[in-house]
Amino acid sequence: MPSDEKRLKVKLILGEPLRYFVESSKEGEPDYLVDLSAYSGNGECNCKNFVIVKQKNIKTGKPLYSTHTRCKHIKRAVEYFANSTLKEISHEILKQKL
Ligand SMILES: [Zn+2]
Repeated sequence: MPSDEKRLKVKLILGEPLRYFVESSKEGEPDYLVDLSAYSGNGECNCKNFVIVKQKNIKTGKPLYSTHTRCKHIKRAVEYFANSTLKEISHEILKQKL
């Protein structure tokens, strides 16, 4: 990720553990809806880049979970999901040790 790229905000959707709203990198643009359960966990997004480029790559057999098949919103949602899951699991492990 280029260093000038800002860290996009992620919003949770109540009762939808794998769906997130991820803010647009452009000021004033609406948030994008990311669903990480799509394509076996690769995720899908409603941004132009995903719909036009990434989805086509998925359909032509490019490897999932890669930069060919994930837009920046999906990458951000995956990062958020990984960090919050790691936090929960690490707290569980700590509790078991006490
Ligand atoms: Zn996107």
